[in-house]
Order: sequence, then structure tokens, then C-alpha cells
Amino acid sequence: NKTPVIAGNWKMHTTLSEAVDLVTKIGQGTDKGWRVETIVCPPFISLAKLKELTAGTPIELGAQDVFYEEIGAYTGEISPGMLSGLCRYVIVGHSERRMYFCETDETVNRKLKASIKHGLRPIMCVGENLTENESSNAESVISRQIKEGLKGIESAELLIAYEPIWAIGTGKAATAAYANNIMGLIRNLLKGLFGSEAALNIPLLYGGSVNASNITELLSQPEVDGALVGGASLKADQFLSILKQAG
Ligand code: 13P
Repeated sequence: NKTPVIAGNWKMHTTLSEAVDLVTKIGQGTDKGWRVETIVCPPFISLAKLKELTAGTPIELGAQDVFYEEIGAYTGEISPGMLSGLCRYVIVGHSERRMYFCETDETVNRKLKASIKHGLRPIMCVGENLTENESSNAESVISRQIKEGLKGIESAELLIAYEPIWAIGTGKAATAAYANNIMGLIRNLLKGLFGSEAALNIPLLYGGSVNASNITELLSQPEVDGALVGGASLKADQFLSILKQAG
């Protein structure tokens, strides 16, 4: 009976003024009685302004990525220390980062460690691609991502998002039963790493074409504690509908 977690990943969408507009609409439509942990992850450039706008509201902020070094000559990068005053969460290892920006299990591991060290709560993303899915390799790919990504990490202060790549932005979400099955596997791996009790407290989010029509069924699954929402988090009315159903 954990509080469900709904996180919106805005990806590379929204100018500063569009981000202000979107978070304002979400704030206005949010009912303080909903029992849901609400997180929005705007582009870096909007975090400072959105921190002001969300102060005292139920909306928490997350970044979409972070670098693992503390400080230095890394043009274009953002360190965990820079983020820790701005947001509580950070997405690490999203499949788009792995695909387009050469992230590996090793860089994901370093980013997770750096985030945790600075008190950020990482949302670690894992998931198989279509080929891996069709060749029945989903479980081995996800086991590898979890084991390598979490190597040497003792703190269970994190969230895991299972995002099958074939379901991202395609309009074809995984079935609730399929998601639940893979997330059960993830839960078992986490039990091995952190112990049963800690593993049960780690929120497992499903991501990939989540919308207002499938959220309730997904959340009805025993292993699904929340969702990481892409496209539908950019429309205030759709995101609010998801929050309302979750809460
Ligand atoms: P969509 O909800 O647009 O499929 O994106 C999912 C995702 O990648 C969230 O991180």
C-alpha cells in the first residue's frame, strides 16, 4: 500500500515559458487530497524557475540526467551537486540516453553513485529493445542492466523504471500482465541486492505509452507502484487525469 508515484518525463520539450505554463496548469488542477507522489522532470534550463513555482505544492521536481563527476572541465555537463539544491529526483540511464548518447551500464552505475552521494533520488531506467524482446532475451538484458547498474550500491534510496523500448512513444504499451511479470523479476533481483524489506520499499514504475486509458489497469498490478510518463505528461489535462486515477 505504497503511495503511487507518477513522474512526467518532459524529454526535450518545453521552452522556459512553456514549462512555466505547463507546471502552472498541473498545479491548478491538482487536488491536494490525491494520494500520489507527483514528479515532473523538465529540461535543466527550467528547474530553477519551476522550483520557485512548485514550492509548497505537492509537485516534486526531477532532472532528466546528470553527469557523474563533481566539478571540472566537462563542457555542457551538469553535476549532482548543482542539482541537489534544485530537485529531489533525477532520471538515470533512460533508454534514449543509452541509445543516442552512448550510456552504458558502467556510466549508469557511476551516475547512480554520484546522485545518491548528493542526496538525489535516482529513477534508474531499464528495459529491452524490440529485438531482445522478440528473441526472448528481455529477462537476461534486464538482469544485466540491474546487476551492473547497481554494482557496489548499498543505498536503496532509489526508484526503478521499467521501460520496454518498443513501448516508448509507440502508442503500444506493454500489457499490464507482461509489465507485472518483468517487474516481479526486477523485484527479485532487488531482494538479492538489498534484502526483502528494502526491496519491497523501492518504487517500481512502468514506462512506455502510459496514458489516461491504461494507467488504472497498470497500477492494479501488484508489482507496479507507479509510472514514468512521456508524451501524456506534456498535456496538462492528460497528466492530471493520470494523477487523479492514481491518487
Ligand atoms: P512515452 O510515454 O511517450 O511512451 O515515453 C515513455 C518514456 O520514455 C518516459 O521516460
